[in-house]
Amino acid sequence: MSKRIDKIVFATGNKNKVREISEILEGFEIPVQSMKDAGVEVDIIEDGKTFEENSLIKARSVWNVTGGLVLADDSGLEVDALNKEPGIYSARYMGEDTSYHIKNANIIERLEGVSDDKRTARFVCAVAAVFPDGSEKVVRGVMEGRIGYEEKGENGFGYDPIFILPKYEKTTAELKPEEKNAESHRGKALRAIRKEIEDYENTSCQ
Ligand code: IMP
Repeated sequence: MSKRIDKIVFATGNKNKVREISEILEGFEIPVQSMKDAGVEVDIIEDGKTFEENSLIKARSVWNVTGGLVLADDSGLEVDALNKEPGIYSARYMGEDTSYHIKNANIIERLEGVSDDKRTARFVCAVAAVFPDGSEKVVRGVMEGRIGYEEKGENGFGYDPIFILPKYEKTTAELKPEEKNAESHRGKALRAIRKEIEDYENTSCQ
């Protein structure tokens, strides 16, 4: 007998992420619910020191309420010339309510005089899963690129308008959603966790 999973709760309240996640998990026969869809309200204190720790903190907090299979992600932008800032503080950089137009302008300003080869950066995404039996897995996806000199593009969200993906020589805000998902940190991490879910389901119950 295999272990069936009939629904997934994704521990996020970020609408943009829910949209990207649904696009990436499309075709997966298990429905994905947001915390709101699942009627879960928990205060989560993200006090981990790494993307992995934070994703596990979120997944465990929701799993303690819902059981079943819970996924959570934690992601951010690391800029090498800024000592990997904003890193795990990407959402909170310059304050949670500050517009990304201002945050992006600030990063570009801090990189003034920095040459192309030193403007390297990456988006990182950790996705944690807590399974119905309480076992846990965390995977990481990375997308390497560099910071541009001005905002470009209208798609995506957050730091996308300043993040240039070398494969296209365009910012991730200039890419179509499916182009970004195929390369993105979140796309890679979600495809890896999808494989872990399939492996879990295929492990026979003793
Ligand atoms: P989290 O909700 O704590 O994972 O915060 C992630 C933050 O990292 C977001 O609010 C964005 O600022 C940034 N970020 C993560 N992924 C992306 C992306 O794909 N594009 C642009 N910004 C991103």
